[in-house]
Amino acid sequence: MTEAAIETMTFGVSADQDTGSSGGGGDYIRYINKEGEFTFRFLQDFNQWTSYWEHYSNAKRASYPCTGQKRSCPGCNSEDEKEAKASKKLLVNAIHIDPESDGEGYVNLWKMPGGTLDDFKRYSRLDGNSLTKRPFVVIRTKKDGRVSYSTDKMDREEFNTAKYADQLQDHQKALNEAYRQAWDPEALAEREADRKAAAKRKEDRENEQAAEEAVAETPEEAPPFELQSKEEREAAAPKAKLSLVAPEPEPEPEPEPEPVTEEEVTLTTESVRKSTIPQLKKLFKMAGLEVPEYEDQKDLANQLIKLLS
Ligand SMILES: [Zn+2]
Repeated sequence: MTEAAIETMTFGVSADQDTGSSGGGGDYIRYINKEGEFTFRFLQDFNQWTSYWEHYSNAKRASYPCTGQKRSCPGCNSEDEKEAKASKKLLVNAIHIDPESDGEGYVNLWKMPGGTLDDFKRYSRLDGNSLTKRPFVVIRTKKDGRVSYSTDKMDREEFNTAKYADQLQDHQKALNEAYRQAWDPEALAEREADRKAAAKRKEDRENEQAAEEAVAETPEEAPPFELQSKEEREAAAPKAKLSLVAPEPEPEPEPEPEPVTEEEVTLTTESVRKSTIPQLKKLFKMAGLEVPEYEDQKDLANQLIKLLS
């Protein structure tokens, strides 16, 4: 889909024309992202809210509005069953009243779960078609892994919504942008580049930290030589050197030659007959006998047996 086509798309309808309801998550447009009570000061009455359908892509980690065209919407035609199932959302400019901050909060575009539609429709009717005369509370709870929302209204209080008129964000623009962020190749590439840059920054920080730690450790490991006596220096020097080189393998001990003494030479005629010529000559030597000069194994063996017996 081209960018021009995205720009001319219209997402959702005015909330007060909506009759049904449903629930889900996203980004850029703010949403209730944790369990607890969220208090809002709505800056738009119910007839200015936008109700729309949204898909959530787990792969893109992004939510985007349904085009409303079942046959061509990439969400409706997703192979991911969860993504293909759209959920109802409501869009409204609001100030989130954070009890932990002292300021009055910023104007943001907020996404309300579709399940709150009937409640807000009713609150609006009860207040003379207005949702700006009092703050409202949306409570997110999780039970058995299922997230659900409930609402509450607070006491009426004077509030000048006109003061924020120039800060209100355009619903269609924001939805177009959410769609673009999820589907425009350029936006996807930008997001990927941002993600890579963030990963690189994190890696650089870690490397820097590791380098700083290494520098901080050096004085402890090798105190300045002025603080050492000559003996300590000498004792420390070879140690430091040894720690830098891999220890040399222990040399294999040379096999000790078998000590041969007269007592140990217990020959049998059998073993003599099986001995080779050099072995036989050695045996002659060991027995203190003159080594014969002939080279016949049988003769040597017989001669040895004869002399020794
Ligand atoms: Zn769709």
